[in-house]
Amino acid sequence: MEILTTQVAIIGAGPAGLLLGQLLYKAGIEHIIIEQRSADYVSSRIRAGILEQVSVDLLKQAGVDQHLKEKGLPHSGIEILTNGQKHRVDLSALTGGKQVTVYGQTEVTKDLMAARETAQLRSFYEAKNVQVKDFYGTPKVHFEYQGQVLQINCDFIAGCDGYHGVCRASVPEDQIKTFEKVYPFGWLGILADVPPVADELIYVQSERGFALCSMRSETRSRYYLQVPLTDRVEDWSDDRFWEELKCRLDPESREHLVTGASIEKSIAPLRSFVTEPMRFGKLFLAGDAAHIVPPTGAKGLNLAASDIAYLSTALIQYYVEGSDQGINEYSEKCLQRVWKAERFSWWMTHLLHRFETETEFEHKIKQAELSYILGSTAGKTTLAENYVGLPYEIKTIPEPCA
Ligand SMILES: Cc1cc2nc3c(=O)[nH]c(=O)nc-3n(C[C@H](O)[C@H](O)[C@H](O)COP(=O)(O)OP(=O)(O)OC[C@H]3O[C@@H](n4cnc5c(N)ncnc54)[C@H](O)[C@@H]3O)c2cc1C
Repeated sequence: MEILTTQVAIIGAGPAGLLLGQLLYKAGIEHIIIEQRSADYVSSRIRAGILEQVSVDLLKQAGVDQHLKEKGLPHSGIEILTNGQKHRVDLSALTGGKQVTVYGQTEVTKDLMAARETAQLRSFYEAKNVQVKDFYGTPKVHFEYQGQVLQINCDFIAGCDGYHGVCRASVPEDQIKTFEKVYPFGWLGILADVPPVADELIYVQSERGFALCSMRSETRSRYYLQVPLTDRVEDWSDDRFWEELKCRLDPESREHLVTGASIEKSIAPLRSFVTEPMRFGKLFLAGDAAHIVPPTGAKGLNLAASDIAYLSTALIQYYVEGSDQGINEYSEKCLQRVWKAERFSWWMTHLLHRFETETEFEHKIKQAELSYILGSTAGKTTLAENYVGLPYEIKTIPEPCA
């Protein structure tokens, strides 16, 4: 068995793992990434697309914002369509100039992978049978790579391996508590090379269910429909998708909608999930490994980024300043922000989706709540503040090493 040594072993090359790797590299901290999928698979996954300002700032600090600056689309508002009428929420005006940026998770991943390749940092893709061990003592990672068994001895393990990963599953049951809510519907998403129906995102609350008109660029659109969990992708031809979307839109949007062949189509179930704590000895969980939000609030990728801001800062404090304060505070600081994003994502989901179990009374109350929110500056400010992302303090990352 070959034995390697590093300071931090990162499990998972999603946005959380790659961003942590880049920030540690910039601070001169050694690390290795171990990923079970191929690099091609990781760089072509279609997922989130909205970045909070704080995530954009973090990517800038990590030195991977060149394409983001060129191709990202800053958005200062969103539309909410209810009862056939669109209401604009002016995010910038309500939050003192903040905005969000439309830039696909796929692009973020590609930018981070390219930076990693340029810096010739160590990654093992297509690693098999990954195991994390002894994280309450002297941490080790075991895995198989190209038919060989490898062991990494390290100071810390960063569990950035998503919801189905091995890190959370390796924590003894009596050391972990989980909180979960599963929603009785999913999102059918379609990606198509057609211009977006409008300049800003449209969140649709309709009697036929929720829909979202989103985008990845000025020529690529991402649309979603609320569908029953029993539906399968094969049930939804492109034509059926566009027809149903039109039924949920207002006449003006329907008229402007450009349809076309899908280049990706998938159904994602909706779930709220939180793990407490997020640190177990020398093992840290970050991103989807520790929490899941329904995508309605556009928070999944952004929460992964804020965890990494806290974790990279904690590790830099440990190695550069010899302080374990950040490490000790990691879980608590992350969870404070995580729960607020969980609340917002749950609230948006609850407000905008049609629940089959909802009584007529509950439906009326929900309509009244939405009408109140959209008719009140205080209501819209609450929505806008959460949508653009709650602030958090991040330490300035040192300049790149040579
Ligand atoms: C289908 C889908 C659609 C989504 N759409 C949206 C959206 O529209 N808006 C939004 O805000 N959020 C969305 N999300 C959520 C968002 O994409 C995630 O929050 C984000 O990817 C979290 O990043 P991460 O790095 O923590 O986890 P991931 O991106 O899941 O990365 C984890 C990585 O770990 C690897 N891994 C897993 N197990 C192991 C193992 N045993 N050993 C080694 N590696 C392992 C995985 O292959 C993966 O590369 C979506 C998520 C999914 C699954």
